[in-house]
Amino acid sequence: MKASNYNFFYDFPEEGKTLAYNSRTAALALMEKDKYDSYQKFQNENDITYLDAELIKQLKLGGFILDRDLSEIDIMKSRLLRNRYSTRQLGLTIATTLNCNLGCIYCYEKDFRNNKKMSQEVLDKIVELVMNQAKGLDSLSVCWYGGEPLLDMNVIRFLSNKFMQICEENKIEYSASIITNGYRLDRSLAEELRGFKVFMAQVTIDGPKEIHDIRRPLVGGQPTFDKILDNIKETSDVLNISLRINTDTTNKDELDDLLQLIKNSDLKEKIHIYLGHVKNSNDCYSKNSCMTTKSFTELSYEFDEKVHNNGFHSGFYSFPNLTGPYCTADSMNSMVLDPEGYIYNCWTEVGNVKDSYGSIVDESFEGNINLRLEYLLFEPFNNDKCSSCKILPVCMGGCPNSRVSGEDDRCSEYKYNLQKKLEDYATFLIKQSSMKEEHSII
Ligand code: SF4
Ligand code: SF4
Repeated sequence: MKASNYNFFYDFPEEGKTLAYNSRTAALALMEKDKYDSYQKFQNENDITYLDAELIKQLKLGGFILDRDLSEIDIMKSRLLRNRYSTRQLGLTIATTLNCNLGCIYCYEKDFRNNKKMSQEVLDKIVELVMNQAKGLDSLSVCWYGGEPLLDMNVIRFLSNKFMQICEENKIEYSASIITNGYRLDRSLAEELRGFKVFMAQVTIDGPKEIHDIRRPLVGGQPTFDKILDNIKETSDVLNISLRINTDTTNKDELDDLLQLIKNSDLKEKIHIYLGHVKNSNDCYSKNSCMTTKSFTELSYEFDEKVHNNGFHSGFYSFPNLTGPYCTADSMNSMVLDPEGYIYNCWTEVGNVKDSYGSIVDESFEGNINLRLEYLLFEPFNNDKCSSCKILPVCMGGCPNSRVSGEDDRCSEYKYNLQKKLEDYATFLIKQSSMKEEHSII
């Protein structure tokens, strides 16, 4: 037996125990002090006789120890490849339009806006794509995206009806979500979306009115704050609203005022609130205004705590689960589609045809296959920086688009706050008195 390379142990004084976490298995446990001492002796002296049979069983179960000839890298690699090339799930991010009614200062799609409508041919080809896979699918998840997806509700109507019908006939689990600026999201549209199994709407507000209206005005410059907040109030009992606050150095000091304002809006316990990290994707924004991942993580942690303490849903008790693949960009059976039927790896590429790797309507289109392969064939286990990282199972090399763009600052937020997150989570579980099997006490 040998110790895992992915073990983390922290003193947990509240319980007089040691908090043990393994990032390769996502096991979390509280260890009695004497058990932890035995484990340390085993590790330091490489002598298994320090561990009794029950402790060996529990440590093995959590992946804290494993057979000497097992390679943890190989285990992770096989899991990553299995998931990456799985065809049991299909994920479609569909930009109903590349048009938008807002002119946000950091929009990474601003160079690719256009008014082109999705043609019937494209709509039919998308349906055909799902039909062709239907027999082998367990689930289909769709994210309605844009531009502003609600500017072309007819695309959502047509495709949702088809998707739901195919899924029902083939016993496929169907779910959908939408990323909208919220300006058009009134109650009747929200109810219609709900009928199309849209369970979550991500809506963005960037600060109190005077800040938000500078950052996210209508294309003509008019304010949007009041209408978006009214829409959130009107729809929060119809859809799960996830309120995103895109944050950088220029609005980070306004977050408390915004939270206070939302608190006064009778939205407690109704919405989820979190910070989004504004990045300079596609050279869309001033890099100097963007926060580093480390400082963003610190800010986000403090903010999540406040959000939680004020009675909203938050990511305060998020747990470092296993990742892999990272997102749509490094998954074989996930794709981003634009209104003309071009297929992309990543959300930030949509509309930029030189990054597209295929077309669902034009078989002669020679896409950017090299870029596709750069995403798909990446294995963080071969990367100098990632291969020795203890957070690797949780991060898997970070945002693929940042990587191919040469961005070095792409480590997981857990790189900077793992201990605090685990302590908070364990405290939460103890409060709930529900240390489940996977979060057991050794
Ligand atoms: S590559 Fe990065 S930016 Fe693109 S979809 Fe994945 S996580 Fe998002
Ligand atoms: S990107 Fe950073 S945190 Fe992620 S695996 Fe690589 S070194 Fe670790």
